[in-house]
Amino acid sequence: MIKSIKVMLLPNNVQKTRLFQHAGAARFLYNWALSREEENYKAGGKFISYYELAKELTELKRTDEYAWLNEISITTCQKAIKDACDAYLNFFKKRAKFPKYKSKNKTKPSFFQTDQVIEFTDTHVKLSCLSLSRKANRKQLNWVRLAEHGKIPINVKHSNPRITYDGLNWWISVGIEYPDKNVNLSKEGLGVDLGVRNLAVCSDDSIYPNINKTKAIKDLEKRKRRLQRSISRKYEMNKEGEEFVKTKNIIKDEKKLLKMHHRLSNIRKNYLHNTSKEIVEKNPKFICIDDLNIQSMMKNKYLAKAIQEQSLYEFSRQLEYKSNFKGIQFIRADRKFPSSKKCSQCGRIKKDLKPYQKTYKCECGNVIDVHKQAALNLRTYGEENIAK
Ligand SMILES: [Zn+2]
Repeated sequence: MIKSIKVMLLPNNVQKTRLFQHAGAARFLYNWALSREEENYKAGGKFISYYELAKELTELKRTDEYAWLNEISITTCQKAIKDACDAYLNFFKKRAKFPKYKSKNKTKPSFFQTDQVIEFTDTHVKLSCLSLSRKANRKQLNWVRLAEHGKIPINVKHSNPRITYDGLNWWISVGIEYPDKNVNLSKEGLGVDLGVRNLAVCSDDSIYPNINKTKAIKDLEKRKRRLQRSISRKYEMNKEGEEFVKTKNIIKDEKKLLKMHHRLSNIRKNYLHNTSKEIVEKNPKFICIDDLNIQSMMKNKYLAKAIQEQSLYEFSRQLEYKSNFKGIQFIRADRKFPSSKKCSQCGRIKKDLKPYQKTYKCECGNVIDVHKQAALNLRTYGEENIAK
């Protein structure tokens, strides 16, 4: 099984410049290869193979105008051309539309390296050709520091290493092949009720709250909104006629806003990952959740924002692939299954249960939290529907 891991890079200033140069070259070559294919196609030609284009690249690099390409890692150049060829071939074979050119403003700077040249230690990654000099002190330039130590396993095959810039930081992602593990699963299954008030309520009594309702997140959101307002005020104030002007202060604030935005989304992302990991690490026989009918939930305007923020869909996706990874059966209950309306004791179905109701009271004397009950019902559903 291949799992993709993404870690932030901590390049020094010289390295940063080189990373941008590589991303620029990758974008340039992708567009170049694509336009060569397009010209050729319009002239009645069929398809220029990657090898022919690679040869043309060698010629191109001999000219003064494109000599700068000699300073770019050859594997990065080749991969960019290969990508363009693959994309074009998909169009040519009518599997896809004509590929888009990568615009400077709309495309995230990114480039590939090949897995043959990339090397990892616990703390650093070696990218090829950030420095072309053979001198030992220069070679150090190729080693870029990783923000998280030990996250990328070392003595394994790393596939498809991709380096991207998200507007603030550089990241590296690589695919890593793991052997399928044999995990000892417990005899119990687990029902998990996903929701807005709590992210997840499990049938084993564990509860994972909605992180968006914590004080830390609310405070950050408040600060973010305040900054957004102040930026739009500054735009109004510095307006020249009908034109909006970006002052130094606005640029500074926008950078700050982007940072805040990233911080918030990272906190949320981490929380989802940690929670899904914790649930899967209970090693239950199966995990059963409601089939989330997100689209119909989104129609409810009060719920929509909370659902978006909590990314229930993403969370269920994580639960699913992490379960599969461990050999835990993952079951989605049928859309019609009344997980929250059914009494877990006697099976009566309460049709008039209101969405805001927190406690379920049944005629049989069962008094229980609505979400806890849904989790129990989902566990029963799982027991009945588990593939033997
Ligand atoms: Zn009952």
